[in-house]
Amino acid sequence: MIEEKGILFILSGPSGVGKGTVRKELFDQATELKYSISMTTRNSRPGETDGVDYFFKSKEEFEELINQNELLEYAKYVNNYYGTPRTYVEQTLAAGYDVFLEIEVQGALQVKENFPEGVFIFLFPPSLEELKNRIVSRGTESSDLVLNRLKEARKEIEMMDAYDYVVVNDKVEHAVSKVQSIIQSEHLKRERV
Ligand code: 5GP
Repeated sequence: MIEEKGILFILSGPSGVGKGTVRKELFDQATELKYSISMTTRNSRPGETDGVDYFFKSKEEFEELINQNELLEYAKYVNNYYGTPRTYVEQTLAAGYDVFLEIEVQGALQVKENFPEGVFIFLFPPSLEELKNRIVSRGTESSDLVLNRLKEARKEIEMMDAYDYVVVNDKVEHAVSKVQSIIQSEHLKRERV
């Protein structure tokens, strides 16, 4: 039978756990998933492109999107806004495509309120020590920001129980293959004869 509406997959978890790497690897391997590009007020990092990695917005532009109810969810994270465009997600799901979000925990919990039928995947670090090493070795942030991100990460890990699946990111290829299995089995679950 044909599934009419796409499935919303949400990959979340603490900063530094490797969500971005897992997502990129997943999308490098042929997939029919549609990635929802987020809006953010943070500055672009070297190598990032507007409209590909994020839609980079000013604070005023972002607040206007909030007021217009254009965001499915948003969060203030380490002094910047991040948010998911509502229309893109709703229209893409309605057209029958699966949509994939890669977002932090506060935002994922907001999505859960509006889309309880979404599939929530929590990416878990092999250990807190390892998480700290990853955040520090990223090297793009000042030590204050690193400390803030670690503090956030500890809080975020406490929210894990709200998720449908927990995937440990010990090796990227293992994590990617687990996420692919989750996607397949969620399709099987929804099939009706
Ligand atoms: P970064 O600044 O490292 O790109 O992202 C910081 C955090 O924001 C990451 O945990 C990332 O997953 C999250 N993030 C990216 N886009 C969104 C979004 O649209 N909404 C929310 N709530 N978080 C996001």
